Amino acid sequence: MKRRNFLKETPLLAGAGLGMAMALSACNDEGTAGEVAHESVAPVSQPPKPIAVATWDVPVAVAKAGEWLDAGKKALDAAIEGAAIEEADVKNTTVGKGGAPDRDGHVTLDACVMDSDGNCGAVLCVENITHVAALARKVMEETPHVMLSGEGAEQFAYAMGFPKENLLTEASKKAWEEWKLKSEYQPVINIENHDTIGMLCMDSNGDIAGVCTTSGAAYKMRGRIGDSPIIGSGLYLDNEIGGAVATGLGEEVVKTVGSFLIVELMRSGKSPQEACEEAIRRIVAKGDRYKDFQVGYLALNKAGEIGAYSIHSGFSYTRYQGGENTNTPADFYAK
Ligand code: ASP
Repeated sequence: MKRRNFLKETPLLAGAGLGMAMALSACNDEGTAGEVAHESVAPVSQPPKPIAVATWDVPVAVAKAGEWLDAGKKALDAAIEGAAIEEADVKNTTVGKGGAPDRDGHVTLDACVMDSDGNCGAVLCVENITHVAALARKVMEETPHVMLSGEGAEQFAYAMGFPKENLLTEASKKAWEEWKLKSEYQPVINIENHDTIGMLCMDSNGDIAGVCTTSGAAYKMRGRIGDSPIIGSGLYLDNEIGGAVATGLGEEVVKTVGSFLIVELMRSGKSPQEACEEAIRRIVAKGDRYKDFQVGYLALNKAGEIGAYSIHSGFSYTRYQGGENTNTPADFYAK
């Protein structure tokens, strides 16, 4: 469909309004966060210096976000800019262009964003678009919805001016073809194969925003969605408390609504580290299956404190603050 026709046929994009009574998610209700009493959390008198933190060892992406924050940009702008570095990096096979395809050979991306006013947007199972975090932001800002999926999300991307790109690189195609020969056609679910980028930024006003972007589990079933684009699972934040992001086997994060849980634990007085540890304990308490998969959490509170914890060793996070960029291995449960 030509872009002009698509705009014509899509009333909300043409500004004609919806004409239907939509119960919008609490995510888009202004002021939601401000109405909640947070008695057990001490107020932060002065915001710390701007901070960018992200899952895994992604110094370039985090430095980019940090530079934007140091230049006075808002938390969400910085987080999306940082995430875009990994989305465009074809060597990162779990995010954006170059991401591992599903078991049928299609690269499908998921992402969500959340801002400091509690607004959020997400895109699920999107093909041919590299910068899905930026696209999720467009869903948040340009539509009355929170989530768009599949073809609808892709059409919306073109309407918003995103270019169509082939996301399947020769290297990812070759790896997928080798996997097809070796495997019994099951998705790869192991403890190494996770590199979803979850990024949390705090700007010079002390406002927090976040992004989560991924190509999902390698060789997943067509249409499978994990935790990453699900607000409350792959990402959640409350600007009065802090934020959390997840990486690893999305199904397990969704079952425990991991990022929301961490923010609520911080609300009730836990440090980011304690909250991440408790969220991992909720998963491992379900039985021995945790031995075969990885989940990692990263959290940032309003005071600028960071916590990270995973089931197995190998998870790390990268932090930028005051011009310094550090990668830190996370503590883990299965010792
Ligand atoms: N959390 C992602 C998912 O389940 C995968 C990952 O972290 O690599 O889709």
